Amino acid sequence: MRILIVEDDALLGDGLQAGLKTVGFLPEWLQDGQSAWRALTVETFAALVLDLGLPGLRGIDLLKRLRGAGHSLPVLILTAQDAVAERIAGLDAGADDYLVKPCDLGELAARLRALIRRSAGQARPVLRVGPLELDPAAHIATYQGRLLDLSAKEFALLHELVREAGRVLSKETLMQRLYAWGAEIESNAIEVHIHHLRKKIAPGIVVTLRGVGYLLPRDIA
Ligand code: CA
Repeated sequence: MRILIVEDDALLGDGLQAGLKTVGFLPEWLQDGQSAWRALTVETFAALVLDLGLPGLRGIDLLKRLRGAGHSLPVLILTAQDAVAERIAGLDAGADDYLVKPCDLGELAARLRALIRRSAGQARPVLRVGPLELDPAAHIATYQGRLLDLSAKEFALLHELVREAGRVLSKETLMQRLYAWGAEIESNAIEVHIHHLRKKIAPGIVVTLRGVGYLLPRDIA
C-alpha cells in the first residue's frame, strides 16, 4: 500500500521509507509541506505519515488544508517527546493517531495497518471475502484454507482488490498503488499479475471489465 511520508529530517525520512518498504508498504518520501500538498492533490495514498515540525508549510497547516479540502485519508503525526500541546493540536486538526519520535518501526507499521483497515470500515485484522482470506500483518493469503504462494506484487494487488471487493479499480489506480514514483513499469504489468492471481487462486477470482478495470466480486465461491 502506498504511504506518503513527510519528514524534513533526511536521516529519519530515509530510515522510515526504507523501513516501511521492508514490511510491505510502498512508501514515498517528501521533505516539505508544499510538495506534499501537491502530491496529495493529484495522487492517492492509503495513509500519510506527517512530521509536524516542517519548514515552509507547517505540518499542522498541511493537515488543516487537507481536511478542509475534504481529504479523508488516515493521518499519523510524528511529534517530539515533550510536545503534548502539539499532539493535541494535531489530533484536533484531524490527525487519526500519533507517534513520538524516535518511533519503533514495528509499531508504526502496525498503527498504519490499523488506520488503513479502519478507514476501509474494517475492524478485523484479517480480511475475508468468501473463501479468500488475507492477513496483511503476517503477509499470508489463503483460499479455501489453501495457502497461496504469491509474489510481493501479487500479494499487494490482491490486497487492494480484497480491500475494495465489489468495487471496480482501474488499471491506472492499481498502477499508482502498486508502483513507486519513477518506477519502470511494463504497460501490461497489471494484466500479467491478474493473470497469475487467476492461475494461483481460481480462474474467476478477478473479473475484467473491458476499458474500465478489475473487480473482485463480493460473492466469490
Ligand atoms: Ca522536522
